[in-house]
Formats: sequence, structure tokens, C-alpha cells
Amino acid sequence: MTDTPKYSCVMPFHHMAIRPDGRIFPCCVFRQEEVPEDLNVAHPDPFNHEYMNYLRQKMSKDEYVHGCKKCYDDEKSSARSMRTDINSGFIGDFGLPTKAEGKGKIKKLTNIDLALSNVCNNKCRMCMPELSTHWYSDAKKMNYPFDIPKGIVVNPFVENGDFSKLKYLKLLGGEPLLEQEKLINDLRKELAKEKQTNANTGWVEHDDKSL
Ligand code: SF4
Repeated sequence: MTDTPKYSCVMPFHHMAIRPDGRIFPCCVFRQEEVPEDLNVAHPDPFNHEYMNYLRQKMSKDEYVHGCKKCYDDEKSSARSMRTDINSGFIGDFGLPTKAEGKGKIKKLTNIDLALSNVCNNKCRMCMPELSTHWYSDAKKMNYPFDIPKGIVVNPFVENGDFSKLKYLKLLGGEPLLEQEKLINDLRKELAKEKQTNANTGWVEHDDKSL
């Protein structure tokens, strides 16, 4: 992509990916082990956390970021990555600011991936027990080496978060349609402000006609 710099990315300027346990990542493919534990919904201002500001500095100087290894590797193997797609707008704008509005230059939280909880009625192959309660029994049998949430984890950001500047909200789970009450409230709140809302779902049967 001609206008895509070597290493930098617009995502840390405009996005946060919030997991069911409250941890926050610069995006969904960023290396989780690089992110400090205290970057989470309990932090008083996670979008201005020093690690997010450090990343923005690195991006501004077009310097290599270890956490972005997946994107750099994808570009070596296929000349394309989430970074190139998002930076170029190739797969849509996802509510990110335009270049004139400071895309990748001025920090402004416009785009959130928000996992409502880890409750799920499926166990898809590419998923894991942190993101689906249905994977618990298999994880236990296999001595899964990571910390597994004990029981249902509900993200406090759903109740307390500030959605006022958002342009794009992606609802995740678990299975977001199992969290009907929260989902309906979020959709009503966000769609009323003409924002883009997207729910990643494996689809479940429900009888609520207002969805
Ligand atoms: S370069 Fe890739 S991993 Fe890094 S913030 Fe951008 S999209 Fe995420």
C-alpha cells in the first residue's frame, strides 16, 4: 500500500479491544503478553494509560512495535495485514476519523471492541475458555495452562463506560445474543446516536422481538 508506513498503525490512536475479564488491548491481534496488567477497565483513564501513549509515540516515529508482530509477519507472507487494511481503509472506515480529522495523528477514541461477558453456548475450534464458558470442561481435562476465569465474567465497562465519542461499537462475547438485555440497551443507546454497531455472533435462538 503506497500510503502505508513501514511499521506504524492508526489503531492505538482510536481504538481499544476490551475483553470479558476487563483487560484492554490496543487491538484484537496485538500480542497480549506485551500489554501491562493494569491496562484494564479498573484504570481511571485506560485510553490515556502510559502504555497507550508509548505506543502512539512509537507509531508517530514509524518504529517497530513488538506487540504488532502478527501484522508485520502477515505482511511478509501475504503483503496484507489488519494494519494495512485498517490504515488504507480497504475494508471500510469502521468509524475511524478521516485524515483531515486526524486519523493516526490525534488521539480520539471512536472505535471499541467490547466483549459483554464470556458466556457462550458454543465451543468453536478457534475459540478458548477465556472467551467461552462452553470450553471449560475440555480445558480442565487438558490441564489448560492459562488462567481460566472461574465462572461467568461480566465486563464492568458495559455499565460504567463512556460511549459518548464512539462512532463504531463491535459487541463480542462469549455470545453477545445471550446477553440480550445489555445488548438491547447498548444497541438502542448507540443506534439512537447514528453510530455503527456490529455484533459478532454464532446466533442463538431467542424470543425477544425487540432485537
Ligand atoms: S499494527 Fe496490527 S497489531 Fe499493531 S495495533 Fe495495528 S492492527 Fe493492531
